[in-house]
Amino acid sequence: PLPPLLFFEAVEQSPIAISITDARATILYVNRAFESLTGYARDELLGRNESLLSNNATPKSVYEQLWRTILARQTWSGTLVNRTKSGGDYLAELTITPVIDRDGDLKYFLGMHRDVTKVH
Ligand code: FAD
Repeated sequence: PLPPLLFFEAVEQSPIAISITDARATILYVNRAFESLTGYARDELLGRNESLLSNNATPKSVYEQLWRTILARQTWSGTLVNRTKSGGDYLAELTITPVIDRDGDLKYFLGMHRDVTKVH
């Protein structure tokens, strides 16, 4: 059997920036890689919307398509320009997937992103 807390520790130590939000993208959890990539400490992120990472230059249509996809319970993947706490822009390869609970309700999203600035 898997040790208790293994899932937590595995996500916590993942080199991919991982967050869990409510259904409106309010941040409920971030892992360490999310903190180091964005430059924000956990306490500064919890309760805030993921939009705090937006560089405010991404066309609205991109977000509209993102939300249409994830509210239809599909996975969305794309590349956004994000801004760190210190103001540096980076290219984020982001995947957002809905988390359906045992009652069949969509209450959470799982977001995973990495910096692909150097790759492109
Ligand atoms: P807004 O004007 O608030 O939104 C732009 C458009 O998006 C709206 O016109 C509407 O069509 C749609 N929209 C926004 N919120 C909702 C909602 N609650 N329900 C339905 N439609 C909505 N954004 C980033 O820029 N970078 C990220 O790394 C990032 N990661 C995310 C991770 C997760 C798990 C989730 C769920 C969302 C993430 N987002 C991210 C999207 C973020 O929550 C915002 O929607 C986005 O940043 C636009 O915010 P805004 O305030 O600039 O624009």
